[in-house]
Amino acid sequence: MKFGGTSVGDGSRIMHVAELAKEHKDSGNEVVLVTSALNGVTDLLLKNAKEASETGKTSTIKEFIADLTKQHHQAAHDAVTGRKANRIAEIVTKELDLRIEELEKALIGICYLGELTVRSIDYISSYGERLAAPIVCGSLNSLGVRSRSFTGGEAGIITSDDYGNARPLEISYSLIKERIEPMLKDSIPVITGFIGESEAGIVTTLGRGGSDFSASIIGAALKADEIWLWKEVHGILTTDPRIVPEARTIPVISYIEAMELSYFGAKVLHPRTIEPAIKHGIPVRVKNTFDPSSPGTIIVKDLKQSKDIVKAVTVIKKVALINISGAWMVGTIGVAARVFTTLANAGVNIIMISQGSSEANISLVVDESHLDKAAKAIKAEFKNGIIKDVVQDKNICVVAVVGAGMANTPGVAGRVFGALGKARVNVIMISQGSSQHNISFAVNEDDATKAVQVLHKEFGLDGEK
Ligand code: ASP
Ligand code: MG
Repeated sequence: MKFGGTSVGDGSRIMHVAELAKEHKDSGNEVVLVTSALNGVTDLLLKNAKEASETGKTSTIKEFIADLTKQHHQAAHDAVTGRKANRIAEIVTKELDLRIEELEKALIGICYLGELTVRSIDYISSYGERLAAPIVCGSLNSLGVRSRSFTGGEAGIITSDDYGNARPLEISYSLIKERIEPMLKDSIPVITGFIGESEAGIVTTLGRGGSDFSASIIGAALKADEIWLWKEVHGILTTDPRIVPEARTIPVISYIEAMELSYFGAKVLHPRTIEPAIKHGIPVRVKNTFDPSSPGTIIVKDLKQSKDIVKAVTVIKKVALINISGAWMVGTIGVAARVFTTLANAGVNIIMISQGSSEANISLVVDESHLDKAAKAIKAEFKNGIIKDVVQDKNICVVAVVGAGMANTPGVAGRVFGALGKARVNVIMISQGSSQHNISFAVNEDDATKAVQVLHKEFGLDGEK
């Protein structure tokens, strides 16, 4: 079970988390708890590290350390209950103080050095989780549950040394099993999410939001029955409830569909998160900490072709379209390669691609913030000829219709575009990969809401069909 930052936002929430874990342990399960940092703490650590390197002001650091101490002490007191509450809070705060002292030294060091390496960023940002874990552990202890806390590295997450975005090494799986499995019978180990350790024993992090990834690695290593990600949402939804109030939680979804959705703006999960789970065939469940009795969404390996062909409709805003055209492009080998290489070198992320068989134009959708550099780079690359026109449009949105059931089902595209036609929504660009799990199209910004609403209804996602 992994709990996100909002779920462990303060002492009373941590208490709730400990109760949930205990409840599941008491009903006959073995539980490992992976914790995020208290809500917002990672951001603050990063901000203060940056300021320390830029301004060198130790007084700011002292203030930050005082606030951080107060916040975590308070949480430690509020997270414990029962006869031994005071005693446990005292042990926890002592441990917190030791860690905070190390953190303070590191930050002051950065003030004096005036530089912040990727390696130090990982070290500093790891403290969010390293301060959360002892509190969660104390909370479990106060409920009479045996528990010990581990950093990611102590638990066996050994990674590459790509600081800020480290990849777990294969050896982690056997190490985690060796170190954590023996504790499961009569305790709930608490492991910091987000962080690992390089082979040389240096702290690394798995990327922002990386606690889900940690949970997935640990679950895979232990061959867990399920990996539960407790969040502040009801699971994965059929669409954005701000656009369609009737949006519902999707009860079951396949890995492939979940991946398609995470790419398309439903930022509940990062695809890399479920990669270890996919590899080991372990179901991942997304549940709401604040509504624990509702089942959430379960993500499974294979799904029998279900009757709901379309699972969800998503929309990506703040994107822009670039259309590249020119008669010379037709039949000229290497144009696409040059377009994409140019964009890659300019640091542009491409969201969607379409080229018709006439080969006379290539349409791309990019992040709105990348539009200017993208257009400039292409114009510069092709200044003498092959490409004649580079047209840009900022006022678009991308809508994606997702569902594995669409594969080999004739008529889905017909229904999608038929429904849009009836609603008088003009489609500007279309793309469907041959996996047939996702039909994406661009529409005018003003039509996006209508497009989503119409399709959500057309495919019965509001539960009416
Ligand atoms: N605390 C880390 C972050 O905010 C990791 C996580 O919350 O999953 O990015
Ligand atoms: Mg977070």
